[in-house]
Amino acid sequence: MEGNAADGRLLEIPQGELMFINQGRHSGWIEVVCGPMFSGKTEELIRRLRLSLIAKQKVRIFKPMTDNRYSEEHIVSHDDQKFVCTPVAVSKDIMGKVKDHTQVIGIDEAQFFDEKLVDVCQTLANRGMRVIVAGLDQDYLGVPFGPMPNLMAVAESVLKLKAICMVCGGLASKSQRLTNENAQVVIGAKDRYEARCRACFDPDLGNENGLPFEPDRQKPTRQDIPRQISG
Ligand SMILES: [Zn+2]
Repeated sequence: MEGNAADGRLLEIPQGELMFINQGRHSGWIEVVCGPMFSGKTEELIRRLRLSLIAKQKVRIFKPMTDNRYSEEHIVSHDDQKFVCTPVAVSKDIMGKVKDHTQVIGIDEAQFFDEKLVDVCQTLANRGMRVIVAGLDQDYLGVPFGPMPNLMAVAESVLKLKAICMVCGGLASKSQRLTNENAQVVIGAKDRYEARCRACFDPDLGNENGLPFEPDRQKPTRQDIPRQISG
């Protein structure tokens, strides 16, 4: 099949490592690039897609229609790099827009998609396509976000990027919401969010501003947080 992504190519991953992937003639794979806001997920997605274009591979890029921060026709990183992409309303719409000759599929802001995105990515990878998914791994409460945890489980490759904590300068893994809006999806950038490390992260920040905190979804409790299995 034309468009077989895994015919023995070098896959470049950060930290200067090269991973040789040869999974057989008819196998694609799934790569997940995740992390908090301002960790460079979209930049990393664009970097991988640009390398694919240099290799003359056929690339298609999708994003959920809910993300209209900048434009409907591009994914735009925070440093203004642009890539033409197709907004889709629900994940299954991706299937109808992928051509047989497509070799590489990029999906940005994947956390906003429905759970069926996992099946869509699996199907495309099983058809021999390289699927690169970028998204937030956790929401503003630090809870796994949308289809991301299941995508990370089935992916061949997962990269968890870190940002810099705006409070202490350490490595940040959380997206701190600075307003007391309590919907899971509140679109914004530096006006509403900052990256924070685990120690500086405070999901109750809205309360401290003297504003009522009325979550419209269940907040994580101690019992909901999986404990590390020991022994
Ligand atoms: Zn910190």
